[in-house]
Amino acid sequence: MRLITYSPKVFIPLTMLCRDRCGYCTFAQSPAHLPSAYLSVDEVLNVARAGAEAGCHEALITLGEAPEDRYPQAREWLDANGFQTTVDYVAHVAQRILDETGLLPHVNAGALDRDQLAQLRRVSPSQGMMIESLNPDLAAHRGAPDKDPERRLATLRWAGELAIPFTTGILVGIGESRDDRIRTLEAIATSHAEFGHVQEVIVQNFVPKPDTLMRNAPACSLDDLVDAIALAREILPAGVHVQAPPNLVDDPAPLLEAGIDDFGGISPITADHVNPERPWPHLDDLRSVVESHGMALSPRLTVYPEFANDRWLDENVRFAVLDRSDAASLGRDDPGATFPERYEAAANVGTGAEVIQVGRRSTAWYSGADRHPPVLVPAPPAMGAEVAEVLAGVEQGHELGVEQLVTLFTARGPEVAAIAAAADALRQGVNGDDVTFVRNRNINYTNVCTFRCTFCGFSKGPASLNLRGRPYLLSNDEIADRVREASSLGATEVCLQGGIHPDFDGEYYLAVCAAVKEAVPDIHVHGFTALEVTEGARRLGEPLPEYLQRLRDAGLSSLPGTAAEILDDSIRAILCPDKVTTSEWLDAHEAAHEVGLRSNITIMFGSVEQPVHWARHIVRSRELQKRTGGFTEFVPLPFVHMASPIYLKRQARRGPTWREVVLMHAVGRIGYHGSVDNIQASWVKLGVHGAQQLLQAGVNDLGGTLMDENISRAAGAAHGQGITDQQFREVVEPIGRRLVERTTLYAVPSQAMTVNPAT
Ligand code: SF4
Repeated sequence: MRLITYSPKVFIPLTMLCRDRCGYCTFAQSPAHLPSAYLSVDEVLNVARAGAEAGCHEALITLGEAPEDRYPQAREWLDANGFQTTVDYVAHVAQRILDETGLLPHVNAGALDRDQLAQLRRVSPSQGMMIESLNPDLAAHRGAPDKDPERRLATLRWAGELAIPFTTGILVGIGESRDDRIRTLEAIATSHAEFGHVQEVIVQNFVPKPDTLMRNAPACSLDDLVDAIALAREILPAGVHVQAPPNLVDDPAPLLEAGIDDFGGISPITADHVNPERPWPHLDDLRSVVESHGMALSPRLTVYPEFANDRWLDENVRFAVLDRSDAASLGRDDPGATFPERYEAAANVGTGAEVIQVGRRSTAWYSGADRHPPVLVPAPPAMGAEVAEVLAGVEQGHELGVEQLVTLFTARGPEVAAIAAAADALRQGVNGDDVTFVRNRNINYTNVCTFRCTFCGFSKGPASLNLRGRPYLLSNDEIADRVREASSLGATEVCLQGGIHPDFDGEYYLAVCAAVKEAVPDIHVHGFTALEVTEGARRLGEPLPEYLQRLRDAGLSSLPGTAAEILDDSIRAILCPDKVTTSEWLDAHEAAHEVGLRSNITIMFGSVEQPVHWARHIVRSRELQKRTGGFTEFVPLPFVHMASPIYLKRQARRGPTWREVVLMHAVGRIGYHGSVDNIQASWVKLGVHGAQQLLQAGVNDLGGTLMDENISRAAGAAHGQGITDQQFREVVEPIGRRLVERTTLYAVPSQAMTVNPAT
């Protein structure tokens, strides 16, 4: 589906004083009409906070041009408040907005010089200035020295030199000719060709307003507006987005048909102070127009995805952008507020660590958060041509490659429900109505680890936050006691995972297996990641296949797929630089399968990677499955950000959005179809309400009952202590499915196990 974006924003008219007088403008006021020359910091923050509460991503700071040069009141206000220039004050409030609300400032401060642009680049991820028109003789601009075309082109050029993601545009119908519009668009295209910095061009229609010099001038006709949009689309390179404001026309449909791909800022709480008589349309109305045209509507950030990287963003604003980004660098689209997270202290919880968050709480859904996700499934489905083509291929039995998987992973709007429905149909064919689970216990035998996984809140945290839990190492007797207890509570499996203790060699894992089997001979030992077995073999100097055989003989039955994270070395270099590589993970699982040990595929998604990495992960693991058939299931594990060191160091996103979670499970079902039959939802990280939606998006398994789960809780998840059959049933039965207990390898559990007493 063609994507149409908008920026959920608040409008902050920092000062309505302006040294210019444009014939069409109602924004600029004289000091006599204003209670104060500038909004105070508190007034600004009140508006920004209200915007953040309402789910906005942008604080649009709009102001007149250098009012201190014209009005003594402006000069006096700046002097009294300790600012030399208006731009100094803009920079100050932008930083406060970033710090206290997390909204991304987009500064529209008019024609600036190079130093001013550079000053604002530190606090505003993007900036904007309308060129309006390069015609120097417009009556509309007669009282406006800053509308001098050369001055505005110079601003555009300096923004390019400074690598500022820049928004500019033309004003249509202020007396300029069609040739003027072409010339202006060509000049923008030329500047962009040199620097690549023009992220969008606004094509804005003139609307006459009372109390302006041009109050009797004719409004720009829809024909002229549509023609100007078509010109912009034709003259500007495809990578430059074309925007038209939806509130300046009666019907936004012709704008879509003319070729725009963005509606600009839309505010749920503030008026358009430049066009106060034209309220923004309701988002639901806009969405229905967009979807009726076979397109999808998505929120974006002030910077477009192409610019959300180190080249274009000052270090000071990078995390603020990341913190509001989804995997495609568009705005997170879960409803609710996103506030900057702050931690003042941390408390150990014995076997892990827990951060204590202070300040205003976000209300949007995050993986691990104790709130319900939005309902995306089931919902009325619709598809664009690309998704329809991919799903038609799936129906014909085609295997999806990376490109097609990315097409599905980047779906938005009603396509998400369509992909979930396709996945659900495949699930029905493969698994029927049964929803399986295994009765198990997690035993995390140590939290001491020599590895440096940057996401891992279980084994360590930044020293400054004292996140590391008390170091512990369970003895084999303690492990055996926990196994006996698990068995007495009905567990058929123990899942053994832990840190890589510096004292371990491969004998440790063999001894653990022996201790478990000695305690409960029939229990299934699901344990030891690819990292643990690879490290165990390496420390013994033994070939991995032989070591795995010895583990199997000692009682190991299957391997968890954890340590896979993202099977792409460019991402592993960020998340787990010293852990097994992609090929080492695959080799370890291949070797395990060859000695008769089954395993599963996990993916930890939502931190720093993009959809292409998810697609590669599926394709790489699927290739191995074709050779060995040893994987039992696919288990998506959403990144839980709250206590994760990489998030606390401001280098990762806040985990996946709910749309991404739904798609990961649904696309997993579709991508592994014919290869891996079981798709599991991790209720530990998603909560049971989330899991219920996923059961309608390709999922057939709810994983384990998990008495004791420390790893997700150490990363800040609210769920994770254990779940009862009844709680599972409450998820499964209302949607007409049947809860079925399984063994680790998807067989029917046998009768009671032998339990040997402790010696
Ligand atoms: S993820 Fe595992 S290997 Fe990495 S630091 Fe944490 S415990 Fe160690």
